[in-house]
Amino acid sequence: MKSLSIRIAAAFTLCMFPSSGTAQTPQKVDRQVAVTIDDLPAGMADRLPAADITALTAKLLGTLRDQKIPVVGFVNEKKLYKTGEVDERIKALQMWLDYGFELGNHTYSHASLNQVGLKAWEEEVIRGESVTNMLLAPRKMKLRYFRHPYLDTGRDLMTRRLAEAFLVERGYRIAPITLDGWDWMFAGLYEDAKKRNDTALQQQIVKEYLAYHDAVFAYSEQLSIKVAGYEPKQILLLHASNLEADHIGELMDVLRKRGYRFVTLEDALGDSAYSLPDDYVGEEGTGWLDHWAITQGKIPRGAPVFPQWVMDRTKELHLSTGTVTPSEP
Ligand SMILES: [Zn+2]
Repeated sequence: MKSLSIRIAAAFTLCMFPSSGTAQTPQKVDRQVAVTIDDLPAGMADRLPAADITALTAKLLGTLRDQKIPVVGFVNEKKLYKTGEVDERIKALQMWLDYGFELGNHTYSHASLNQVGLKAWEEEVIRGESVTNMLLAPRKMKLRYFRHPYLDTGRDLMTRRLAEAFLVERGYRIAPITLDGWDWMFAGLYEDAKKRNDTALQQQIVKEYLAYHDAVFAYSEQLSIKVAGYEPKQILLLHASNLEADHIGELMDVLRKRGYRFVTLEDALGDSAYSLPDDYVGEEGTGWLDHWAITQGKIPRGAPVFPQWVMDRTKELHLSTGTVTPSEP
């Protein structure tokens, strides 16, 4: 059915633009994507003053609201506790709800299930609920989504399944991801360039960030066909940062150009792809297209290479990865 409707759509496009002749006519595929943003109130909350966090949150949410893009933001409550700034940081989180978005849990301190052990990790999940629950309660909302920090879902199947059962028991639905262009890596470099008013470098970073995401989207669409037989409703992983605050609109345009429209996470999770068999375990967290491929015995190949100069410059600057490491004091 799906391929038939695509063919009909393609035929229509040709009829409507006969003069385009043999030129490549973009096929109209009804692509759908849910946007999720991690590491709230901000990936680099430990380096940014509360006023900056408020400003970037307002800018980011303003764009998303204007463009009517539904988003779930995933919180690390530890980032709220900075002496003298707690109230303002909580207010930044509150803005997500005021703008009409939803909040999910990303553990208290961005703890990796692969690093801290199951018991400690479960405590991290519980501790990560307090402020968010307090903000949700007056709106008659409840925490219902959980995102694994670093996408670490467990080193062994036993741990993975026990953690999943724990999450279900606490009323969570796991929020998988299928599109990931490592925006946090670009965001660290962008933050530094912005601080130094290096606009040329900022532009270069943005250009690369958009191009790399476009390549990742194309690759993920292909991989989707290989593992699911079609392109499911995708789930995009982004992080709260100045890069996203300044440029998320352009990234959304990249998606629109590829034929995507924006749906809620709830809608995306209704896609049957999210119940495909998934036995993935490993040291390195990864996206769900990889989970499904590896479960099927298919090794994902041909992923676009992350721009080396961005990695090198990031290392030179000793920038954090935009996330709170579990070992941090
Ligand atoms: Zn994260």
